Amino acid sequence: MKKRIIVFDTTLRDGEQSPGASMSVEQKTRIAEILENLGVDRIEAGFPVSSPVQFEAVRGIAAVLKKTTVAGLARCRSGDIDAAARALETGKFPMLHLFIATSPLHRKFKLKMNRGQVIEEIVKNLEYARKYFDLIEFSAEDASRTEPDFLAEVVAVAIASGAKVINIPDTVGYAVPAEFGRSIARLRQAVPELRQVQLSVHCHNDLGLALANSIAALENGADQVEVTLNGIGERAGNCSLEELVMTLKVRADLLPFSTGVVSELLYPASKSLQSITGLILPRNKPIFGDNAFVHESGIHQDGVIKHRETYEIMRPADIGRRVESLAMGRHSGKHSFKEKLKQYDIKLSPEQFEKAFAQFTCLADQKKEVFDEDILSIINAVLGHYHCGCRLVYFHVATGKDQIPAATVKLRLEKQEFLAAATGDGPVDALFKAIDQALNIETRLLNYIVQAIGWGKDAQGQVQVEIEKDGLVYFGKGLSTDIIKASALAYLQAYNSAVLHVAKIKNKENKNESRSVVAG
Ligand SMILES: [Zn+2]
Repeated sequence: MKKRIIVFDTTLRDGEQSPGASMSVEQKTRIAEILENLGVDRIEAGFPVSSPVQFEAVRGIAAVLKKTTVAGLARCRSGDIDAAARALETGKFPMLHLFIATSPLHRKFKLKMNRGQVIEEIVKNLEYARKYFDLIEFSAEDASRTEPDFLAEVVAVAIASGAKVINIPDTVGYAVPAEFGRSIARLRQAVPELRQVQLSVHCHNDLGLALANSIAALENGADQVEVTLNGIGERAGNCSLEELVMTLKVRADLLPFSTGVVSELLYPASKSLQSITGLILPRNKPIFGDNAFVHESGIHQDGVIKHRETYEIMRPADIGRRVESLAMGRHSGKHSFKEKLKQYDIKLSPEQFEKAFAQFTCLADQKKEVFDEDILSIINAVLGHYHCGCRLVYFHVATGKDQIPAATVKLRLEKQEFLAAATGDGPVDALFKAIDQALNIETRLLNYIVQAIGWGKDAQGQVQVEIEKDGLVYFGKGLSTDIIKASALAYLQAYNSAVLHVAKIKNKENKNESRSVVAG
């Protein structure tokens, strides 16, 4: 008899914390729907108190999901708990994820609290949270570097104070499998009350051991594993959903655990997430990488042709990967476009559909074959729909051997137009300088990445930029068959999000001011 484990997905919280992975509310909602369809049990939708976008995303997701538990993160602070409660009030199955750091390093340098004070905080905040929530998960942050006796005390106190799920995170990805497994077994022995609640683990991949540690924890009695799709997350990422699901499936002979995840939906889900975040997976990534089912050496090819199992432990179809994904073209009509959306479980409003289809036909006119990746990027642009802000009206770039690269741009912000020209080290440099001049701004370019989306010489280029403005970092993405245009779009998106951020802060300050006047 297999034990049905709980899959807690934190793609939208821990995953979204990866540099470059931030998503709009609409994009997060889309991913949440995909994850629900995939069959994960719990979705951590965000950290409501941390920003208005996070709050709205958690609220929107909680309102939309039909069968999945939606969790919001909170520190041991009443303001955090209040925000999570407000964000989740419309949800069918709300859950609070409350955490505090417990390791000596975190206690001393981050919290400046001793053991007793940490315990007090846990009791006080769990009590406070219980007035809103029935289902509360408590996490002892940096548990794997916490003294075992203190961790046991923390866990016992959290259970006595009403936590229904106890999560043991390897926050910094420091544990190794045998050690982590032993610590889970020891904890279960030391705290018999754990039998009345669910025991969870949350492993990071700094040493590439997140999956191995999670499996070791399951073998030692864990009931829940926290994961992210594509393994995205802080630093080197989290235990990846697809690796966990497929390991349990492929090694069912050894591992007596099952999940509710429909593995055949994994690959389209991964593609959607890659398209939305722009975090494209390396070719050799387990399960999802482009090379995961490619056999190069002659001996391997020969073996696979004779009998696939000689070199394949799973089939592409097991994860919903179609080898012959049909490319679309200018003759593909609305019907086949709709079919394609269905394949990726994409739901659009009629208005969004028309917009996406118009962009698709436009692209199909420019390139011979339109690949799934292209379509996902179009959908992403339609859904992403960052606030418009400053728009590109016109650009011209001149470059060549023994020439000084020069760029001219015309931008529009509401009814005003800005025109500027500049030279640079290369066409992109000249273009960015011209944009800076037109908008009279100063930014520092931290990162610039160009990636081909799809295949062939006419593939679209996706450009991602990371800029620093007034000490803060902003991201932007642009997509076009012309990489110079994609660069301009990406740069403007980053600039627009910087402007939006400043506007929000000002708005908040104004509100606070007016509030203090009223309170006054
Ligand atoms: Zn984490």
